[in-house]
Parts: sequence; structure tokens; C-alpha cells
Amino acid sequence: MRRIGILGGGQLGRMAIEEARKYLAELEVLTPEYPSPGSELADVAHVGGLDDYEGILEFAEGVDALSWEIESVGVEALFELERRGKAVLPGAAVLEAIRDKAVQKGLLDARGIPTARWLILDSQPEARPGEDSLSAAAVELGGFPIVQKTRRGGYDGRGVLVLGSARDEALRGPSIAEERVDFSKELAVVVARATDGSTAVYPCVEMVFDDRANLCDSVLAPARVSEASLKLAQELALSCVRALDERAKEISARGAGAVGLFGVEMFLKQDGEILVNEIAPRPHNSGHFSMEACPSSQFDQFIRILLGLPLGSAELLRPAMMVNIVGEPGATGRPVYLGLEAALAIPGVAVHLYGKREVRPFRKMGHLTAIGATREEAMERAHAARGMVRVVAE
Ligand code: ADP
Repeated sequence: MRRIGILGGGQLGRMAIEEARKYLAELEVLTPEYPSPGSELADVAHVGGLDDYEGILEFAEGVDALSWEIESVGVEALFELERRGKAVLPGAAVLEAIRDKAVQKGLLDARGIPTARWLILDSQPEARPGEDSLSAAAVELGGFPIVQKTRRGGYDGRGVLVLGSARDEALRGPSIAEERVDFSKELAVVVARATDGSTAVYPCVEMVFDDRANLCDSVLAPARVSEASLKLAQELALSCVRALDERAKEISARGAGAVGLFGVEMFLKQDGEILVNEIAPRPHNSGHFSMEACPSSQFDQFIRILLGLPLGSAELLRPAMMVNIVGEPGATGRPVYLGLEAALAIPGVAVHLYGKREVRPFRKMGHLTAIGATREEAMERAHAARGMVRVVAE
């Protein structure tokens, strides 16, 4: 039996733990709060900060391999663990190359991977970039609107702001600006990469972004784009992972490099060009559909990688649509789930609830996936089910 440690106590860890059981692996999590979706299912939950240097070192002592389910973890502690010979997957240098959006975009540029034009915005620490800085950025990037992103700590669209003019109130702190891409679709591909360098690439999905909730709301697999675009997206995602692996090994020869799961988000432009938006070095919301639609889910792959087992198949067995189940507007308090019976009566529908103790408006409380013989059938079923399920407060 191997003991796996996961930094973070959220739903991504929870779903990984569910998969780990079948391999008799023991799971320990380091979580800032207890109870939480992942910590409740773990064999051992350690409560502590995810950037607490000593806390991470201590946590890692008890496990054979270590990963994370959220990027905001203390990378210095991960480097130290690698120095001590601990299996950190992906390697600490991967996180180092990704967690700052300016560094990540720089890597994509250096490797010739297409991405939206961007630049670093001038600002004092903790301050907003001034009008001059925003105007100059807009000139460089082809005019307003531009997209401002904080260099660190963004998640689910927080830390991203579209600026229509230099007088708009910008985000505080170190940030980058990007040209606003006039995309026709947002695509994503999850890549699993094992220690021996083998890879499994999931099919390209299409993401539907909900502005109101500010989160990626549903995911359709496969995306409704040409065969050529599906293939290009997968190739680009693989290039990103290779680029990350090479960069990580330049930063630290000792680390594991790009071993683990990688969610690569992309924009498909009207003219067919695909730009990489960002890479997440962990299980990804856009890969949840794989739990019902593929022989080996992203979480299964994650655990296989951490246990040193061969990768499974990422082939799409049937079309699927995944929809996030989020808190109702105005719902704050203990969650009550309505309409589950009706939704589950629809053929091909599966529900995953994360067990969060408190619902808030638009908070991700779970997800549902509908599979179908065709994409249309999967979509119909998913839409019907989403219309039934509601999460309100007690
Ligand atoms: P996060 O790290 O918070 O997920 P993203 O970079 O994925 O941030 O941005 C969140 C969303 O904002 C994207 O899914 C997309 O809809 C929109 N977005 C981000 N960058 C751009 C851009 N350059 N042009 C147009 N829309 C963008």
C-alpha cells in the first residue's frame, strides 16, 4: 500500500480519493479547513495552511508521494522536499513556471505556442495600474477593451477583469494585460503524463462560461468544432505539457517535471486559430466528464500516476455534457438539494455532490454529467437535469 498526500481539501481531492480506494491507496490531505469535501473522505486530514513551509514538510513525512489540487501551495517547501528525495508530482518547478501568469505566458511565447498578446502592467505593489499604464498597454495590444489579470492567485475568473477604458477601475497588485480575444469558443484538453513520459490525452471539450456566476458552467465532449480543430487542440495541449516539462527540468534537474494532470484552456478564433489561455497543473473542471464518458477518468489517471501505475485510456466512449451544480442566487446557509430524484431518473445522468457544509450563491456544490448516444442527446439530458436540480439554503 502506498500513501499519497494531497495539498488542498477541496472537491478535486475528494474525487481523487474516491478513485484511490480501488487501488487500496491511503490518502492524506493537508487542508486549511475541516470539514471540507476532500478532508472528510481522507484517511487522515491535517489542518494547516497550504503555504506553511514547516507544515508542508511535516505533512509530507508521512506520505510516499505528494501532489496538490490547487495551485496556491508553498512552492519553496516543495523544492525542499525534492531536495530530500520525496516524490513531488508534478515537480515543484512546474508550479514555479505556472503560478505567475507573466511567467507562464513568457514560457508559451518562448516555445512558440500561440497565446493572446500580453504585457506586464506597471503598478506599485498593492496599487492599481494608473491610467497612463493602461493607455500604453491598450496601444500595444490593439486598443481597448483589454483584459487585466492578476499575476497570482486568480481562480475561476476571479483576478480577471475586462477594461473598457483607461478610466475603468483596474484590479490591485501585480498584473498583466492581454488583448481581448474575439473567440468563437473556449476549448479545453486535459493531459495526463506519467513518470515514464507516457501520456494520455483526453478529447477536446467546449466550455460554456457563465458570466453571471463567473464560472465555467458546462462542458461538452467532444467540442462542436472541426476534426482539424479537435486535433490541433490536443496537439497544442501536449506541446504545453512538453514545454512545461522542459522548463521545469531547466529550473531544477532534481524534480519530476511535468508529471501529473494538466488542464489546458484555449480560445478558438473565428479564423480557426487556437490560442492557449492557461495551463492548470492539476485535475480540472473541464475533465469531470471523463468519470462517466471514458474508460479511465482524470481522477483515476491522477491516482495511477501517483502510484506509479500505467496510464489508462482517455478515449471518449460516448458524448457527454457536464454541468456544474451551483448554489441558487440568494442561497446562504446549510445546503438542501432539490430535484435529485427527478434528475437521476433521466437515463445517462450521474450526479456528484461535494458535501460542502455551506451553500453560497453560485458556489460549486457538485456537478452532473449526462452521457448520450449523440452529443445532442447528452445535451438534452444535461439541460433537463440541470433544470431540476437546485441547491438552496435550509
Ligand atoms: P482564471 O485563472 O481565473 O480561470 P482565465 O484566464 O481562465 O482566469 O480567465 C477567465 C475567463 O475570462 C476565461 O475563461 C475567458 O472567458 C475570459 N478571458 C480570459 N482571458 C481573455 C482574453 N484574453 N480575451 C477574452 N476573454 C478572456
